[in-house]
Amino acid sequence: MDQIPEFVDQRQKSWCIYCSKWLSDAKATNRDHVPTKSFLRLPLPENLPVIEVCSECNESFSADEQYMLAFLGAVISGSTAPDAQIHPRAERILTKYPSLKRRIEEARQEARNLFGETEVLWQPEPERIKRVVLKNARGHAFYEYGEPMLSDPAHVYFAPLPSLSTSVREAFETIPFNGVLPEVGSRMLTRYFSGQDLDAGWVIVQEGSYRYAVLQHGKLTVRTVLFEYLATEVIWA
Ligand SMILES: [Zn+2]
Repeated sequence: MDQIPEFVDQRQKSWCIYCSKWLSDAKATNRDHVPTKSFLRLPLPENLPVIEVCSECNESFSADEQYMLAFLGAVISGSTAPDAQIHPRAERILTKYPSLKRRIEEARQEARNLFGETEVLWQPEPERIKRVVLKNARGHAFYEYGEPMLSDPAHVYFAPLPSLSTSVREAFETIPFNGVLPEVGSRMLTRYFSGQDLDAGWVIVQEGSYRYAVLQHGKLTVRTVLFEYLATEVIWA
């Protein structure tokens, strides 16, 4: 990815965008990658989106991020077996944490459909995934628009991309431009003019691994797609 400097109001940079603590009051601060590097494949792209947050928050998401990665890895690969994993990081996590592997295995259910065929259903732990989805949405909104979205969102949604109906998927994929340009100095404005890492309104962090879009139409909406499999949306009213 290209590095894009931004010139938004520096006063907005004083809080941790996850817990709203003043960064000057925090014991320590960290540079937080949004999304976490573990969602990406090696070699990592250069100039990944990074924001400054308090260290406590920075560390507090890693267990849920690991869970999400292992869970999606198992769903996409159809198995919790480490050697069956398509994503190398999922393989590593499922090898390293047998209790997590067991927990995900227990979330696998088989059911007969109307045609008598066996269907496999994986039941996620929704609160853990929502926590990561919201974290990333706050990070993307802040990185692109300089907006600290400290309040609770109206809506946090996630679903497998292949499960969306054609019309819902089309609406999800379409990033409308409402004619209002992003704020002067924001990274998103720079992207609008330069097209940097931008494909039809989506910011491509790494092809096939992660993309996101931030829409500001009165309300703020952040959409992401992880592994071209999990679609997420967070809306602040
Ligand atoms: Zn914090």
